[in-house]
Amino acid sequence: MSNPLFDLTGKTALVTGSSRGLGRAMAEGLAVAGARILINGTDPARVAETVAEFRAAGHAADAAAFNVTAEDEILRAFEGFDAAGIAVDILVNNAGIQFRKPMVELATADWQRVIDTNLTSAFMIGREAAKRMIARQSGKIINIGSLTSELARATVAPYTVAKGGIKMLTRAMAAEWAEHGIQANAIGPGYMITDMNQALIDNPTFDAWVKGRTPAKRWGKPGELVGTAVFLASSASDYVNGQIIYVDGGMLAVL
Ligand code: NDP
Repeated sequence: MSNPLFDLTGKTALVTGSSRGLGRAMAEGLAVAGARILINGTDPARVAETVAEFRAAGHAADAAAFNVTAEDEILRAFEGFDAAGIAVDILVNNAGIQFRKPMVELATADWQRVIDTNLTSAFMIGREAAKRMIARQSGKIINIGSLTSELARATVAPYTVAKGGIKMLTRAMAAEWAEHGIQANAIGPGYMITDMNQALIDNPTFDAWVKGRTPAKRWGKPGELVGTAVFLASSASDYVNGQIIYVDGGMLAVL
C-alpha cells in the first residue's frame, strides 16, 4: 500500500521545461504519484507529443506551451488556467539553458538571456502561481537550482549567478508566502544525463572529471530526482520551507 503522505491525487502540477530532460522525468514522477500535469516547453509540437505520451501511459496531462521568459505569455497562460478552472497546486520552475563562454567574450545579451531563462522566469511564474495559491492558502513551489547555486565554475558565469539567485529566491518565497500555506523549496541536481550535458558526456576528459569527482563515480539519471520532487510536492514536506536539497551523488560533500 502506498503512503498517503506522498499521494498527489487531485493535484495539478505545472512543470516548466517538461518536454524533455529533468523536467520530463520529474513530471512523470509526479504523474505516477497521482498529479495531473501541465506540460511546458517553447515548442508546441514537442509539448503536444509529450502530452500524448503521458496520456498513452495512463496519466492526466495537458499542454501549456509558453516561453518562460515572456511575461505576456505567462500572464496569458495563467488567465487560461483560470478560465478553464485549473488551479496550479504544484509549480516546478525547471526550464533552463546553459552555454559555456569565458566572461571576457560574453555579450551582455547572452548574459541577460541566461538570467532571464533560469532566474527571472522563476520569479514571474512563481508570482502568478502564488497569487492564486495565497487565495487558496495552499501550494507547493519547487525551484531547480544546481551545484552552481553553491559553487562558481569557470565559463558559466551567468548560469552560476542565476542558480545562486534561485537559492535566495526560494528563501524569499518562503519568507513571504509560508504564512499562506505555501512551501517553496529547491532541488540542486548534480551532473545529470540530459541533452543539456550531451557535449560534456561525449567529452572523455570532462566525463572522467565528473566520474572522478563524484563520490558515486557516475553521472546522475533524470529519474533520480523524482523522489525529492514528489517529497517536496507532497504533504510529507508541509513544514519544510526555503530549503535547497542537493541530489548530486555526494559531490558537494567533497568539493
Ligand atoms: P534540457 O536542455 O535537457 O531541457 C530543458 C527544458 O527546458 C526543455 O524542456 C526546454 O524545452 C525547456 N526550456 C528551455 N528554455 C525554455 C523557455 N524559454 N521557455 C520554456 N521552456 C524552456 O535541460 P535539463 O533537463 O538538463 O535541465 C533542466 C533544469 O535543470 C535546468 O534549469 C537546468 O539548469 C537544471 N540543471 C540541470 C543539470 C544537468 O546536469 N542536466 C544540473 C543542474 C541543474 P524547449 O527546448 O522545447 O523549449
